[in-house]
Amino acid sequence: MVYAITDPDAKDPYRRTSIFLVPTDTPGVRIIRNVAVGGGGEIGSGNEGYVEYKDVRVPYDALLGERGAAFVIAQVRLGGGRVHHAMRTVGACKHALDLMCKRAVSRNTRDGKLSDLQMVQADIADSWIALESFRLLVLRTAWLIDKHKDYNMVRKDIAAIKVMMPKVYGDIATKAAHLHGALGVSNEMPFMHMVTSALVMGIADGPTEVHKVTLAKQVLKDYRPDNDLFPAYHIPKLREEAQEKYAEDLAEMKVEYAKMKADKVSV
Ligand SMILES: Cc1cc2nc3c(=O)[nH]c(=O)nc-3n(C[C@H](O)[C@H](O)[C@H](O)COP(=O)(O)OP(=O)(O)OC[C@H]3O[C@@H](n4cnc5c(N)ncnc54)[C@H](O)[C@@H]3O)c2cc1C
Repeated sequence: MVYAITDPDAKDPYRRTSIFLVPTDTPGVRIIRNVAVGGGGEIGSGNEGYVEYKDVRVPYDALLGERGAAFVIAQVRLGGGRVHHAMRTVGACKHALDLMCKRAVSRNTRDGKLSDLQMVQADIADSWIALESFRLLVLRTAWLIDKHKDYNMVRKDIAAIKVMMPKVYGDIATKAAHLHGALGVSNEMPFMHMVTSALVMGIADGPTEVHKVTLAKQVLKDYRPDNDLFPAYHIPKLREEAQEKYAEDLAEMKVEYAKMKADKVSV
C-alpha cells in the first residue's frame, strides 16, 4: 500500500493524498531489506521492510477508494485497528496475569510461597486493577463506536485506549516476567515477547505522545476560558456570590440567632 500526493493544489490539505495498492513485482519496486521487531535474529529477517519505489507506474484501478481520500480511508482503518489492538492486548494481559498467579501459588522461595509475600500480592492486585480498568475503557469505546457508527465521534476514546495499552501491557508483562525469576526473562517463556510487543504498541499506529495530544485537545474542546485573573471557582469569589444570593436568608438567620442568644437557648 502506497500513499502518494495526487492533488497538490487541493484547497484542503487532507484531500491531497491518495492510496494505491502496488504489487511488489511492479517494475521500480525494490525491497531493500526486511526488518524484525525486537532483539536477536539475523539482520535481514522479519516481516517489516525498507522498500524503495522508483518511477513506479500503476494502472488507475490500483487506486484504493476515492482519489484524494487517503487520510479518510486511513483514519477509518486505523480507528478500528486501534480498538482491535486494544482488545487483543486485554487478552494478552489476562494471559500474563493468569501465568503470574499460577506461578505465585506454585513457587516456594526461602521466605515462603510467592503468593504469601505481600509485595507479590501488591503486584497481583495492581495488575488486576490495571487490567480491569483497561478492559472497561476498551469495552466502553467499542460500545461508543457501535452507538455512533462514526469513528470521528469516538476519537478521544480511541486515543485514550491507545495511550493506556502499552502502559498496562508493559507493566503486567514486566511483573509477570519478574515473578518468574530467571525463567521469566528466558526465551523459553512468552514474557520477553510480551514486553517488546508492549513497546511496539506505544509506537505503531502513531506514538503515545501524539495520541495524548489528540486526547487532550478533544477534552479541552469542552472548556471555555475564564477571562478574570481570579477564576470563577476562586473561593473568596464563590463566598461573595453566595452571600449576595442568600443575603435575605442570612439576615433572617442573624436576627433569629440574636433572639436565641437573648433567650439563652443553647445552639
Ligand atoms: C511493528 C511496526 C509496524 C508498523 N506498521 C505500520 C504500518 O502498517 N503503516 C504505517 O504507516 N506505519 C507503520 N508503523 C510506523 C509507525 O506508525 C511509526 O513508527 C510511528 O508513527 C513513529 O514514527 P517514527 O518511527 O518515525 O518515530 P519518530 O517520529 O522519529 O519518533 C521518535 C520519538 O519521538 C516521539 N515523538 C514523536 N512525535 C512526538 C510528539 N508530537 N511529541 C512528543 N514526542 C513525539 C516518539 O514517541 C518517539 O519516542 C509501524 C511501526 C512498527 C514499529
